[in-house]
Amino acid sequence: MKKADVILGAVVLLLCVLWLGGRHVLKRDGAYVVVKRDGQLYGRYALDEEQEIAVGTGNRIVIEDGTARMADADCPDQICVRQGRISSDGAVITCMPNRVTVQITGSAGEDADAPDAIAY
Ligand SMILES: [Zn+2]
Repeated sequence: MKKADVILGAVVLLLCVLWLGGRHVLKRDGAYVVVKRDGQLYGRYALDEEQEIAVGTGNRIVIEDGTARMADADCPDQICVRQGRISSDGAVITCMPNRVTVQITGSAGEDADAPDAIAY
């Protein structure tokens, strides 16, 4: 094994550690999307991670570009879908027929009675 390979390995390892550490900090400090169904916590998702969340079979939430929106819903009024994108602290999308709410919170620790882990 050449010396250059050892150095390269060490650098890659260091970058991995920094990347994981950075992600952890972002997760802790970044804004979150809190999804509730029937008044119960359905899940908590980082707003800076692009993802799709299926709430049961009736609602599909998309998180992208630091915003959250109700991409699809099987409710008759479609009000939640028409609410568009939300990103500011405290903003809420409500799907009344399906009893689903999507709320932006400023930090993970804000909602004290909700667990940290994503509850499916
Ligand atoms: Zn709806």
